[in-house]
Amino acid sequence: MSEEFSVSRDLIRQLVEGTIDDDNTERLLKLPRKDKDRFLNYIAVLQERVPWDDRILLRLGDKLYVVSKGAGRRETQCECGHSFGDYRENWKLKCRIRVRDTLERMAEVYDPAPAVPEAGWQEIREFFCPGCATQHAVEVVAPGYPVVFELLPDLDRFYRDYLGQPLADEAGDWYEDRSAQVTAHWKQAG
Ligand SMILES: [Zn+2]
Repeated sequence: MSEEFSVSRDLIRQLVEGTIDDDNTERLLKLPRKDKDRFLNYIAVLQERVPWDDRILLRLGDKLYVVSKGAGRRETQCECGHSFGDYRENWKLKCRIRVRDTLERMAEVYDPAPAVPEAGWQEIREFFCPGCATQHAVEVVAPGYPVVFELLPDLDRFYRDYLGQPLADEAGDWYEDRSAQVTAHWKQAG
């Protein structure tokens, strides 16, 4: 068998859409080596499905992406087109947030009853897009716990070292959590 395997873009499209059949799924699972181009083909399939032209750099969730908006601008963006701004800032801080912190409100989303978190010790936070109301994330944490920044990718390193296709606007400060700047701004504005 050849050392190089290439999975067709059509098959990746079926995977993304959930229409792939069992035989093909098994075939992909049994590939002796992973397809070298799989990430870029995957991104190409995603790019066909979104209603905007900004280049997708990474998918963060079902309808959430890091995109390039031109040199020097990498932003977190919803499928609806709503931008959460610089991807180095935790996008959750710019969501509409629903907090369930009573037994009654938590029981609405937990079943069976013994599984419901204990009010006072835990709370459920639901994060919604301000543009289209898609629920992008849910976290269950202790009250007062900082909003969890789920993923800050090192995009330059990933594209340069793993994909061999460095991004045009590589810079030394892309891999840096800037979420504290958002909350500092709230403090000033408040
Ligand atoms: Zn949206």
